[in-house]
Amino acid sequence: MTDEPSSVSLALERPELLGLGSQEFQAAIAGFLEREGEPRYRQGQVREWTYRRMPLSFQDMSDLPVRLRERLGESFTLLPLVKRVEKISKDSTRKLLWDRAAGGTIESVLIPDADRVTYCISTQAGCPVKCTFCATGYGGFQGQLRPAEIVAQVLGLRALTGLAPTNIVYMGMGEPMLNFDAVKRSLEVLTHPDQVGFGARRITVSTVGVPDRIRELGDLFPQVKLALSFHAARDDLRTEIIPLNRKYPLSEVLQALRDHASKTGKKVTLEYLVLPGVNDTERDASEVIERVRGLPSRINLIGFNPFPEATYSKPSVKRLLTFRRWLEAGYHGEITIRRSRGEDIQGACGQLSLKHTEET
Ligand code: SF4
Repeated sequence: MTDEPSSVSLALERPELLGLGSQEFQAAIAGFLEREGEPRYRQGQVREWTYRRMPLSFQDMSDLPVRLRERLGESFTLLPLVKRVEKISKDSTRKLLWDRAAGGTIESVLIPDADRVTYCISTQAGCPVKCTFCATGYGGFQGQLRPAEIVAQVLGLRALTGLAPTNIVYMGMGEPMLNFDAVKRSLEVLTHPDQVGFGARRITVSTVGVPDRIRELGDLFPQVKLALSFHAARDDLRTEIIPLNRKYPLSEVLQALRDHASKTGKKVTLEYLVLPGVNDTERDASEVIERVRGLPSRINLIGFNPFPEATYSKPSVKRLLTFRRWLEAGYHGEITIRRSRGEDIQGACGQLSLKHTEET
């Protein structure tokens, strides 16, 4: 990522290498090298640098001639994001706020944990869904990310931190299924063996539930894991906290999950955000058990992480454990309780960006 604002404003005028499919990349670089009178073997060098090594700019491609690096920079965009702020939590969670060439900011989070390094990436600038528990929803919607911006969060985090990911989760700002073309292309670039080559089994896409897109994801990327922001088993309550549930009621979403599971053979992760006094009674637990009966799944309980605009409070550990016990009475899949990470740096989705907007 370059620090020069002028290169940000220019970035949109040049083709973005990270948004190209494998064959498009090959054609673009082959044509470019031919026009520049460069030997064809340089193509492999550019590919290797772009996807596998950790350049922040074309200038870092140190075994290419200086003039060729300059011409690459004049002809293409490598990373279309510029780091604005990085915050490091007491628990080593790192959160980055990026400036976009198109204007506005997005965020990504790096979560180290024992032998795992999880990257949490965004798919939209803000989010149009406006879930009531989510800081991104409060910040409004600024626009769709382009495929290169989704991929650039991964390669940018890797280049800036030197910590390669073991897992990638599409759980940052935005609803991935509402920017699905860009998400599909980013998955292609991240998993293609001639491009980033990251294992599809170690990628999770998280959604609040768009049935057709869930099925399409299973068809196109059967190895990619799926997570549903579940949060309530009754449509009236779920619509209250996830407005998109009005358009895609839970019965349709759950049917899509069953179809996805039977096609891919994979369990879906059901994320359940525990909101005290809202969705954490014994009745809520019983309804969850009934709704997901027979669905190959695991449940991940998450304690709500408050932010200033939120009207919900944080559940006690005792409450989380009690809710888990109620679930265990009838749910036979695995139930985990997710540890909250990066609370001191506004760790929940969208919080750093929202705070930055308020401060500026
Ligand atoms: S939880 Fe996801 S879908 Fe809902 S507002 Fe936040 S980013 Fe959007």
